[in-house]
Amino acid sequence: MRVGILGAGQLGQMLALAGYPLGQRFVFLDTSGSPSADIGTTLIDPQNQQLPDFLLRVDQVTYEFEHLPVELVREIEKHKPVYPSSRALEVCQNRGLEKDLFTRLNLPTPEYRLVNSAEELAAAVKELGEAKQKPVIAKSVTEGYDGKGQAVLRSAEEAPQAWEAIGHKQLLVEAFVDFVREVSIIAVRGQDGEVVFYPMAENHHVDGILRYSLAPIPDLQDKTQQLAETYIQALLQELDYVGVLALELFQKADGQLVVNEMAPRVHNSGHWTQNGAVTSQFENHLRAVSGLPLGSTQVLHPTCMLNIIGKAPALQAVLAEENAHLHLYGKEERAGRKLGHINLVAEDATTLVSKVKALARLLPDAPEPCFSFTQS
Ligand code: AMP
Repeated sequence: MRVGILGAGQLGQMLALAGYPLGQRFVFLDTSGSPSADIGTTLIDPQNQQLPDFLLRVDQVTYEFEHLPVELVREIEKHKPVYPSSRALEVCQNRGLEKDLFTRLNLPTPEYRLVNSAEELAAAVKELGEAKQKPVIAKSVTEGYDGKGQAVLRSAEEAPQAWEAIGHKQLLVEAFVDFVREVSIIAVRGQDGEVVFYPMAENHHVDGILRYSLAPIPDLQDKTQQLAETYIQALLQELDYVGVLALELFQKADGQLVVNEMAPRVHNSGHWTQNGAVTSQFENHLRAVSGLPLGSTQVLHPTCMLNIIGKAPALQAVLAEENAHLHLYGKEERAGRKLGHINLVAEDATTLVSKVKALARLLPDAPEPCFSFTQS
C-alpha cells in the first residue's frame, strides 16, 4: 500500500515509522522547499509541478499539516482518495469556520468576534474584554500555529499595536477563558464509521508552544472523558471524517469543558501514545486512511511527553533513564523549533511526575513542569 503524505515534517516521519511494519510505503509531497521527514521518497515541489508524478506513485493520500491550499487537496481528490477530506481541511484551517461549526453543533466555545480592522478589533476588546473586566485573545484567522499570530489585549487602546503586530487581514477575537488546565482528546474514525478514543491528555503550554503532555489524567472524572468524546464524535460525524482528529479544550474550575480548536491530523498531544498505548495515534491514523481495522487505544502505562525545543539535551543522560523513550526528528537546532520529544513512562502518576521533573532538568531551557492534579 503506497501512502502519499502532503507535508514532510516530523509528523510525516513518525507516520512512516509507524506504517513500515504494516507493509506500507510512503511518498511525501513537500511544497515548503525544506522537508525534514527524511524517510521514504520525498518530492520537493515548491513550484507545484510534480503533482502528476506524485499521483502515479500513491494509492491514497493524507496530510500532516493543515496549512495547505484547499484547491490542491480538491484536485488530488479527483484522482485518489484523500483522508481526511478537503472539507475537514477547509474548516480546520480557518478559525472562523471552525468556530461557526462548534457553535452550530452546540459545543461550548469562548464568545468570539471576527474583525477586519484595528477599529473593529478595538470594539471587540471593549465588548468581550473591558465590559467583563477580562482580557481577550486575538488570533489570525488563518495560518497561526504554536501561538504565532496571537496577542492578548487588556484594553482597546492596545488594538492598533496588536493589529499591526499580528499583520493579518482578519482576526478572531475571543474572550479569555479562566481555565484550571488545558486538555485534549484524540479520536480516530475508520472508513466504516468505527470510532475509537484515547484517554484525554493534560497539556502544558508556554508561550503558545506545547511543552508537556501527560495521559491519562489521574483525577479526570469519567463523565468529563465522556463529554469530550461526545464533542469530538459530533465533529467526526458532521465532517464524515476519516483518520485522527485532535480537539483541544480548556477545563474550568467547575469541571466544565470549553472547546478551543481542532487539528485534522496526528497531534503533538498524542505523541505519548507511541509508548503509552497499545496502538499509537500514527498507526491508527494509517489504519483509518487505509481502510484497515482500528487498533486498541488502551493505555499501557501512565506517560508524559516532554518536547525537546530549540536545543538538544545530552543524549547519554536522557538515555540513562530506563523508562525514557527518545524520539529525535533529525532537525538542526534553532530557537523555538521542535527537535524531538521524550516519552517517559512510569508505573503510576505520582512516580511519573517526579521523574518528569528530574528529566526536564536535562532539557536546555525547559520550563518547570507543573500539572493541575499536583496543585493543592
Ligand atoms: P491556540 O493556538 O488557539 O491553541 O492558542 C495557543 C494557546 O493560547 C493555548 O494553548 C492557550 O494556552 C492560550 N489560549 C488560546 N485561546 C485562549 C482563550 N480563549 N483563553 C485563554 N487562553 C487561551
